[in-house]
Amino acid sequence: MPSLHTMGQQQDRRSWAEPYKIKAVEPLHMTTREQRERAIADAGYNTFLLHSRDVYIDLLTDSGTNAMSDRQWAAIMLGDEAYAGSENFYHLEKTVREVYGFKYLVPTHQGRGAENILSSTLIRPGHHVPGNMYFTTTRYHQEANGATFHDVVVDEAHDTSSDFEFKGNVDLAKLERLIDEVRADQIPYVCVAATVNMAGGQPISMDNMRAVRELTARHGIPIYLDATRAVENALFIQERDEHYAGTPIAEILKEFCSYADGATMSGKKDPLVNIGGWLSTNDPDVYEEARNLVVVYEGLHTYGGMAGRDMEAMAVGIRESVRDDHMKSRIGQVRYLGMLLEEWGIPFVKPIGGHGIFLDARAFYPHLDQEQFPAQTLAAELYLDSGIRAMERGIVSAGRDPVTGEHRRPKLELTRLTIPRRVYTQAHMDVVAEAVKECFDQRESVKGLRMVYEPKYLRFFQARFEPLG
Ligand SMILES: *Cc1c(COP(=O)(O)O)cnc(C)c1O
Repeated sequence: MPSLHTMGQQQDRRSWAEPYKIKAVEPLHMTTREQRERAIADAGYNTFLLHSRDVYIDLLTDSGTNAMSDRQWAAIMLGDEAYAGSENFYHLEKTVREVYGFKYLVPTHQGRGAENILSSTLIRPGHHVPGNMYFTTTRYHQEANGATFHDVVVDEAHDTSSDFEFKGNVDLAKLERLIDEVRADQIPYVCVAATVNMAGGQPISMDNMRAVRELTARHGIPIYLDATRAVENALFIQERDEHYAGTPIAEILKEFCSYADGATMSGKKDPLVNIGGWLSTNDPDVYEEARNLVVVYEGLHTYGGMAGRDMEAMAVGIRESVRDDHMKSRIGQVRYLGMLLEEWGIPFVKPIGGHGIFLDARAFYPHLDQEQFPAQTLAAELYLDSGIRAMERGIVSAGRDPVTGEHRRPKLELTRLTIPRRVYTQAHMDVVAEAVKECFDQRESVKGLRMVYEPKYLRFFQARFEPLG
């Protein structure tokens, strides 16, 4: 059993530490229990509706919450805010080409902008899109353009007790069966996420990606990556596939991307900025159509909803994100929190994924029905206890089936503690672990929630609840 302080580098006896020091600080807000009771009631027991000034440690998401480096802040001053042909666009395009290997780049305001354009470009009504588990905005855009989404992730991804090392893998038999059933010409592309967010930040192996490429190539089906956390995925490949043990993350990433035809990217994750995204492709026809569509939804094809300075900061952030020392410390912090929870027997998804700890809310509250929203309840309880903000990833996030109108009942009912990149210290992780332990100790007295307001689209963002009992 490695000690808490060495698990970032299991073979090394010395502690790991962040590969940076802190140059600017931002004060945190502390609240009383009474203030938190009022705040969470005002927010309809939905952590998305809290004001951030009422939050102490914010683990809602790792999206756009990154701390930028001094080099990135310096890059902000190099913004070329020309409407057309900004220098920063060409720098970003060159960076994506060199780091990810894709030929053409269409910038967007964030990842969902890229998903919208990719889906509108490739999907026609009646199409089928397979993916290794769904992501909320990704599936929304696929369905909005008339496709049916098919989950082809391996069964282990849905099993919180499985410690399979590549739970993000595509189940090749499921994919092949789907191709036989609906025919290849009805599948505009396979959507491969790396890592798989909804499974708990679980990686997909290089062998699996290569095999998906071989299978789809036989049928002439392209692959588009959801590359938001593909650099994190590359670290897992380096650690878990002995063939890549000595290979730099940057090289692993490039090989991984070489099996895809393009990617959608949320700049708010791996690329270490606060806003932005892009669609990239090697296909000149897709590029032509996407470059044309982007002017309707995002902006001209050389800014796509981003300021020049944002594109420059992203270009610098992408280079920083593929450094081995950065990625080891990023995931090392997530693992540190996980090891503390593990010592106290708290149920969460294993193995520990890339961007957070996914608490198993069903195991916290076995006495609650899924329609009493266990994961939403746990997020509210954690906030009440400590001011720590988490997010529901369960029945609320899964939404309703567009055909039957019933709740989709996902197997996974999780509360996500997502760790922002380079923002919090190890002491903050100690405080978080203690708050989760307190909620675990109080678990039997918890009664659940009922939904009193339900928005039509992506309901988890704005739904409101009331306590039961
Ligand atoms: C965040 C995210 C997106 C969407 O990106 P935005 O920048 O938030 O629009 C898509 N896929 C995955 C896996 C994500 O985590």
